[in-house]
Amino acid sequence: MRLGCHLSIAGGLHRAFEQARKLEINAMQIFSHNARSWKFSPLTDEEVERFRQAWAESPVEYVVIHTSYLINLASPKRNVYYGSINALRKEIERAGQLGISHVNTHVGAHLGRGVEEGLRRIVRALDAALESPEAERFPEVLILLENDAGTGTSLGARFEELGFILDNGRHSERLRICFDTCHGFAAGYDFRTPEGLEGMLEEMDRAFGLERLVLVHANDSKHPLGSRKDRHEHIGRGHIGLEGFRWVVNHPKLRDLPFILETPKADEESEKLDSEMDRVNLATIRRLRKREAGDLNP
Ligand code: ZN
Ligand code: MN
Ligand code: MN
Repeated sequence: MRLGCHLSIAGGLHRAFEQARKLEINAMQIFSHNARSWKFSPLTDEEVERFRQAWAESPVEYVVIHTSYLINLASPKRNVYYGSINALRKEIERAGQLGISHVNTHVGAHLGRGVEEGLRRIVRALDAALESPEAERFPEVLILLENDAGTGTSLGARFEELGFILDNGRHSERLRICFDTCHGFAAGYDFRTPEGLEGMLEEMDRAFGLERLVLVHANDSKHPLGSRKDRHEHIGRGHIGLEGFRWVVNHPKLRDLPFILETPKADEESEKLDSEMDRVNLATIRRLRKREAGDLNP
C-alpha cells in the first residue's frame, strides 16, 4: 500500500524525507514553498540536488506537491486570477525540477459570479498554465484537481463540475483528480457503506472517468454529512468513522491509489505531540487494510 501524510518542509524541502523515514511511510505530500504566501524564491541547484539525493536514498515511492491555499483559478479579481495562474506555472516548474509528477490544487471559488462563469475561468486558467513555457519544459508533470467541501462559493464539490473542467480544457490529458474523503463527505456523498461507496464511484466514473482518479486524501470529517464544512478529523473519530474508511481503503478500484493523510497533527484531548498523531492515524489505516496475498507492504 502506498500510504503517507502531508509533511512539513521546515528546514528545507529534503527534510521531509527524514520525517517519512521516522514514520515508515512510502508516500508523502509537501508544499513547495510557504503555502500562505504568493512568493516563490527560485529553487537553487543545491536545493534540487539535496532533494533528489534524499529521495534516492529513501523508501518513499510517491511524492505530490500541494499548491498554495491562496490560489483561486476562478477568481473574478484580476490580480488573484493572474497570480493563481502564475503560481500554478511555478509549481509545475518546481515539481519538474524536483522529479515530482503530481501537483495537487483546489480549483477555487466563484465569489458570486456564478458556477458557470467560475468553471469557465478555471478552464481558461488551466489552459494558460498548461501552455506556459514551464509546462512545456516539464511535460511529465500533471495537475490534480481536488474535490472541494463546497463551502461558500467554492467550486469542484460536485463531480460534474470537475468533469466540466476536464471536458472543456485544451489540455485535459495533463489533468487528473484527487478525492478528499472529508471534502466529499461534507459535500454530501455518503460512501460509508459498500452500496454508498459503489454508488459514489459510479457517479465519479460518469462525471470524469474513474481512471482519472489518481490520489486519495484520507481525512475523517469533524462535521456531519452534507455540512459543507471543511474540517478534518483523525481517522475514525469523525462522522465518516472506522467502518466508512474500511470500505474506502479496501475497495478494488481505490486500494492501489496512494493515500495521503491530512489529519490534524496534534490531539487536543491527550496533548500528544505533533507527529505522534500521524503515527496513530497511519496505524489506524494499516489496521483497516485487509491483508492479501502478495501485499508485502500492507
Ligand atoms: Zn487540498
Ligand atoms: Mn485535501
Ligand atoms: Mn480540507
